[in-house]
Amino acid sequence: MASNMRKNTRQVRVGRVLIGGGAPVSVQSMANTDTLDISATTAQVRRLKEAGCDIVRVSIYDEECAKTIRAIKESVDIPIVADIHFDYKLAILAAKSGADKLRINPGNIGSAARVRELALCAKDMGIPIRVGANSGSIKKEFIDKYGGVTAEALVESALEQVSILENSGFTDIVVSIKASDVVKTVESYRMAALKMDYPLHIGVTEAGFGEQGLIKSSIGIGTLLLEGIGDTLRVSLTGDPVHEVRAGREILRSIGMLPCGLELISCPTCARCKVDLESICRQLYEKTRDITKPLCVAVMGCAVNGPGEASHADLGVACGKGEGLIFVRGVQLKKVKENEIVKTLVDIIKSQ
Ligand code: SF4
Repeated sequence: MASNMRKNTRQVRVGRVLIGGGAPVSVQSMANTDTLDISATTAQVRRLKEAGCDIVRVSIYDEECAKTIRAIKESVDIPIVADIHFDYKLAILAAKSGADKLRINPGNIGSAARVRELALCAKDMGIPIRVGANSGSIKKEFIDKYGGVTAEALVESALEQVSILENSGFTDIVVSIKASDVVKTVESYRMAALKMDYPLHIGVTEAGFGEQGLIKSSIGIGTLLLEGIGDTLRVSLTGDPVHEVRAGREILRSIGMLPCGLELISCPTCARCKVDLESICRQLYEKTRDITKPLCVAVMGCAVNGPGEASHADLGVACGKGEGLIFVRGVQLKKVKENEIVKTLVDIIKSQ
């Protein structure tokens, strides 16, 4: 399994979730509701958790927001990360309101005394801080030094944030280095993994919308994970963050790093297919996507390759003209009509 080759990193704790040090790679997302709207935010956080999210980040933009963390945490059972820009007092308030982790760059909050105050508070509360570099907000000094927003510039920028916290005696750190460019993201994290042993939060930032964002994130995150780099991930997509969580879990599943959940394999169809396979797959996916049982389900369009493929899976169907032959662990179970295929498979999945 890819996880055996994972780079050894330090471990931090975010609520009940461990990051780094050999812990399973966790999936994160970020709420896009107004944090002050507690009922909308808690509803979305619950949906994210149901979809398999391990840690949720919320934007904290003023004092009221920081205080709402307590109310949000009382209504949901998942670690909450407070995302703060610039204002160290808000970060301290968020920590005292129960945030399980802070996302803030100490380089943006001013004097060493302020950083020390924040670091001391985080230490007292026992929560880690994520620092990092983002291609959209890197300092001019690093851009000039490296002739642009290069991987070197991003890594040096992140290391600067790390050393500011270290100088305050704080080492409970997670690091992210994000570029919206896949190649630069991968190069940056490779370089960072050689230079530090803090756990890495990986992702392609502002990856985009729909298929484009999914593909960029899958290649970027997947490449890093296969090289043993990355302790927690976020797929960044425009739209409902539930899609980010599903995508993150699919990336982990596809490389054998998520030992639970249902894997649906299906053929691309061709002229031999005499059922509406796309509709069967879509219905089956909708009905089973939140099932956490580790099962492989094959949905094949015809009797040519179908029975062979379907029989290697835990269960499956090889379709014929308007019907399907159901297999369970290599054994033919029964033939059902096309409109009964989905229900039959779902019933078997639930009985496993
Ligand atoms: S399994 Fe059958 S229908 Fe599907 S692509 Fe292969 S030959 Fe075509």
